[in-house]
Amino acid sequence: MKALGRRELMALAGGGLAVAAFSAARAQAPASAGAPSPKLLDELVAANRILADQGVVDGFGHVSARHDKRPDRFLLARSMAPGLVTPADIMEFDLDGVAVDPRGRTPYIERFIHSEIFRARADVGAVVHSHNPALIPFGVSKVPLRPVYHMASFLGAGAPVFEIREVAGPQSDMLIRDVRLGRALARTLGRSTVALMRGHGAVVVGDNVKTAVMHAVYAQIDAVVQAQAMQLGPVTYLNPSEAAKIAPQNDALVDKNWDLWRAHALK
Ligand code: MN
Repeated sequence: MKALGRRELMALAGGGLAVAAFSAARAQAPASAGAPSPKLLDELVAANRILADQGVVDGFGHVSARHDKRPDRFLLARSMAPGLVTPADIMEFDLDGVAVDPRGRTPYIERFIHSEIFRARADVGAVVHSHNPALIPFGVSKVPLRPVYHMASFLGAGAPVFEIREVAGPQSDMLIRDVRLGRALARTLGRSTVALMRGHGAVVVGDNVKTAVMHAVYAQIDAVVQAQAMQLGPVTYLNPSEAAKIAPQNDALVDKNWDLWRAHALK
């Protein structure tokens, strides 16, 4: 290997300085992207209430939104029941799951679900994590969750199952409590809209808050209906072409459901 020239040495020194500056910055809280738009904040609070009202989440579960000012920041409530979330409970995080301005608020342990999906999927604007009981059977059996009807057409992209034992071994507490586990879950999700978490719950995404909520509601309904249909005999599912065609149409009409669900949840 040839000796380094002056230019290479300068570049290395500069790199060292950059690393030192980076380390110093990391010791402090990450910079805020500033206040999110009032519309986004309002949608995220409503999403929390709707998911509780529709039975997708109970006291547990959470929903996040990518920040509208910076794609490497996201918004997520402090650790609390989604059905009780107000704007003051919404915190800002960077993509390492570090809170920008915690002000004494405790974050969800499993915020790495959100940070790593936002990091891996530039197309995703919102993430729902639930322990939805309707979905659990499809994460613990060999029966894949599939689109039984047109409102769950996003399931045409598949609903892969995340097995935490493959990453954390047989003695984990089942929770996505760090970057490594979040990254593995995001890898399992791949390009899909839904990933089931064996013996735990699911993640559901959308390109914005409204579509993520709608997907989470219809994933739940599809799971119930699929289990019912399977008891009757062999089931005909949407084929890939049907599913791909109707999925964007449903997303485009999300306001019909959103307005109804919002009015019901916030009355
Ligand atoms: Mn969980």
